[in-house]
This record gives sequence, C-alpha cells and structure tokens, in this order.
Amino acid sequence: MDSRHFIFELKIKMRIDLRSDTITQPTAEMKTAMMQAKLGDDVFHEDPSVNELEEFVADMFGKEKALFCPSGTMTNQIAIKVHTQPGDEIICDRSAHIYNYEGGGIGFNSGASVRLIEGDLGRFTLNDVIENINPDNDHYPRTAMVSIENTVNRGGGSIWNIAEIERISTFCSENNLKIHLDGARLFNALTETHETCLQHGSLFDSLSLCLSKGLGAPAGSVLCGDSYFIDKARRIRKVFGGGMRQAGILASAGIYALKHHVHRLKDDHLKAKILAKHISETYFCLKVLPVETNILIFELKPEYKTDVILRKLAENNIYALNIGKQRIRMVTHLDFTDLMLEKACEILKLMS
Ligand SMILES: *Cc1c(COP(=O)(O)O)cnc(C)c1O
Repeated sequence: MDSRHFIFELKIKMRIDLRSDTITQPTAEMKTAMMQAKLGDDVFHEDPSVNELEEFVADMFGKEKALFCPSGTMTNQIAIKVHTQPGDEIICDRSAHIYNYEGGGIGFNSGASVRLIEGDLGRFTLNDVIENINPDNDHYPRTAMVSIENTVNRGGGSIWNIAEIERISTFCSENNLKIHLDGARLFNALTETHETCLQHGSLFDSLSLCLSKGLGAPAGSVLCGDSYFIDKARRIRKVFGGGMRQAGILASAGIYALKHHVHRLKDDHLKAKILAKHISETYFCLKVLPVETNILIFELKPEYKTDVILRKLAENNIYALNIGKQRIRMVTHLDFTDLMLEKACEILKLMS
C-alpha cells in the first residue's frame, strides 16, 4: 500500500481515546511475559508469579507483605474492612474514589460512615483531619482511619505534598488512627516529585497500587502492609470473591509493567500538558485545572452543555469523559501515541 495514503487514512480514522488510562492494551512484550509466566494455584499460595509480584512490591515499599487483587476497588475496600469495625468513621476528601466510585462499598462492605473534607483538589491538611475527628463519646461514630489519594483523580491528577502526608501520618500513629493510601496513580506522582516508594511506604499502614492504569497491565492491583494486616486482608479477599487461581498470568503482566512502564510515565505527563494548552484555547473551555500528571480536567463555559461538547469531540474521533457538572476529563496513557497527540492538537486548533 502507498504509505502516504496509509498515514492519511490513519489520521482520518484514528480513534483517540482519552477517557481513561485503563483502556490500554497489553504490549506484545507484555503478552510474551504473560505466556511464559510460571503458574500455580494462588489460593494455595502456589503461584510463583503472584508470589514474585507480591514480594517485589513489598520490597519496593519497605513493607512486610503484599497481596495481589483483581482491582483497585477491591484493594481499597479490603483495607477499609481490615482497618475498621461496623459503625466506625473514615476521613477522606469529598472527591475521593473510595467515596464516589466504589459503589457505596464503604457502607456495603464495612458498615462504616464517611466524613468528607473539602480539600484543595483532593488534598487536605493535618488541621482538616484534626477538625474532623469525633470526640470520644457514645453519640459519635468512632473515627478509625484516614484515607489519602495520590494522585487525586478528580483533582485533575494533583500531587500531594509529602510534608503534609508526613504530618498527617505522624499524627495518625500517635492517635491510634490508621492511614491508607489509594495510590492508584502513585507512580505518576513519584515520577514528578522524584520521591521514593520507600519514603511513601513508611508513611502508610496500607498502600493500594494499580497496575492497570498508567502502567498498562490488563488487570490487577497490589495492596501492601505489615504481616498482620496482609494476613487479615487475604481472608477478606477470599470473602470478597477475589481469590484467583492461576493468577500469575495477570501478575506477570504486572511485574513486566513495574519493570518497564514506570519510567515512561513522564511522556504521558508531557502530552497532557501539551493537550491542556490546546484545550485552554478552545471556544468552549472556561478553565483547565492545573495539569501535574496524566489527567486533564477542564470546565466548560456556562453556555455549553457537557454532553454536546463530548459528542462534538467524538465526531472528531476524540473521546473524553463527563466527570460531573460542566467538567470533562481526558487522561493520557501508553496507547496515546505521538501521532495521536499531533492529530488531537490539529483538531483542537480547529475548535479555537
Ligand atoms: C481507578 C482507580 C481505583 C481503582 O479502580 P479499579 O477500576 O477498581 O481498579 C482506585 N482509586 C483511584 C483514584 C482510581 O483512579
């Protein structure tokens, strides 16, 4: 085929899917790693690839143990279940994934209530935590844990300041509160701050890390913590139906992703910043939230409807997501190529 004709066709037909970084396909190399993975029954602790992934992640974060689970929703919900008793209360930000996007799991699975903080793009302060702890009195739910999300999905991929996490973490350990990290995109944060996994590992009782977001694995999340916590978490995983058998086929993709796809996250961040510049110049954009990582959230001018703009973008092969009143989200990822960025910018220029 005439290559010029091919590129032309590609440019016209190319589907530019920015709805989420979960839509990535495993690469050829990742599939090879999956096909070659040694497998066993993980419910019997006998899957070498799952064991390797769990040890790898535990070591990486300086934790005693880790647990491979089917999803980030499950790792978060297991952590909440282990850290709380029915009737307890959890402190998190209003935008938190555990509160907004896990199907009401906090109430359903753990019988716990939630105290919401109005943070700055999902980030709050030690003072916010202190103000939201209930008095030790029979009337109130017992405040049991604090959950932090880093990066913050609905905060436009905002990054926490580690000094604030340190203050909250110290306070929690001195006041008998558990502290959990929803680190679905922690690696995106670390890419920008150059802080280490060990630093962050030391600040939390439990950490949840997603392999199927920016890292590009087909499924799976890892929960890590001390032995006492993970032994309990393993029982809960079984109760939640998350005990998988030859799960090494997925875990091996996760190992591959951790070894090969972390360093490239910076490319996604650069692409998000370039996209943001073009979005900010479109006729419908009121403002773009600060772009710190791979998530770009923009607000529409009041005279434009979210669904109408999403349809207009889709007619031009750009797919984005409605994330609430007048807000649209785009996420850059492994399968968003340089050519797609170039094409997306061309299209957005026509909408300026
Ligand atoms: C995606 C995500 C999760 C986990 O989602 P799953 O789809 O269940 O893996 C948890 N927290 C945040 C912030 C997320 O973006």
